[in-house]
Amino acid sequence: MRDHYSFPVHVPEQIALYQTDHLLTHDVCQFDPARAADALQAPSEVLAIDIGGDKIRGAIYAIGAGHFTKRDERFLQSRGGAGYLAFLESLAEEAKSRNLRVGISSATKMDGSTISRTVNLPHFLEEFRCRYGADYRNLFTGQLSVTNDTIAGLCGSAMLLMNRGGVIQDVAFVICASGLGASVLKDRNAIHVEIAHVPLVESLNPLGQTRPCGVEGRDFVCVERVTAARAGIEDLYFTQTGDARGGTLLGRMYEEGDALATVLYKSSALALAHATAGLAERFAFSESSPGVIVFHGGNFEIGKYRIDLGANLARLPHVHAQVVFSRDLSPNVCLDGAAILAAYHHP
Ligand SMILES: [Zn+2]
Repeated sequence: MRDHYSFPVHVPEQIALYQTDHLLTHDVCQFDPARAADALQAPSEVLAIDIGGDKIRGAIYAIGAGHFTKRDERFLQSRGGAGYLAFLESLAEEAKSRNLRVGISSATKMDGSTISRTVNLPHFLEEFRCRYGADYRNLFTGQLSVTNDTIAGLCGSAMLLMNRGGVIQDVAFVICASGLGASVLKDRNAIHVEIAHVPLVESLNPLGQTRPCGVEGRDFVCVERVTAARAGIEDLYFTQTGDARGGTLLGRMYEEGDALATVLYKSSALALAHATAGLAERFAFSESSPGVIVFHGGNFEIGKYRIDLGANLARLPHVHAQVVFSRDLSPNVCLDGAAILAAYHHP
């Protein structure tokens, strides 16, 4: 490895790629934070479930007077989604016996209530497809709201920001964890935005990542391949050293000044800032109508990374938005969002 890398500040070609057909977007649902606050007035209980890339969580939310409290939280940590289905089956039984509305946040690509793609959860998908056709509605037979985690996190964040007295205009939600994903709340439309699978320009790829995107036949190196923890940082570390290390350890090495970890996280934060600028520009966050961008996921548990990202964003001309980290809103904004959406869709 070379000792010194010079990082560019502003790479307009990368931001411009977010204006092209490479950026896939899907309108998912309507969401109005003010109406959601109304839906949380009447007392009730819902079961919320957060299906993540390396852990699954369930909790009961007691709702009422516009707020919620969480209890009976349980979780399972696993690799590849092993054990997820048994965990879900016991929650489904509980929901049925207590007649609870259910909200699910799923870190997978969704087609309605069916999983259409996952990189991180192959074991879960195989079992789930075999027994339930990969459709959450075949497992949870009562009132159910399912969205992917970017949408659940977005709606949860918008609601929490509003409860803190914020004026909610446009909100973007960016997840950088095992993978990279995003969503936008624009004119009360919740839109899933695939910011990850856009080509990465060479000047933002200092270690020469060559592993292609691989999603739906894309054969270029995409932004996720340097940005995300598992698909980017861990993968590049392994390629460079032959040593398989997890994101938590690599993050600590970065905090302690390890040279390679520093290049990896600095590359990630810089590419992520450009992807965010591309997203903000694509959805017309402007000086006259600034938005809020909420960052969520394991990368943002690293203090140095939050500082690097903030500094990178401040140097880009396109980002007219307030930057928030979800950890400052809630311990789990996707789980909160799943509960809110269950109440919102089935008041
Ligand atoms: Zn990709």
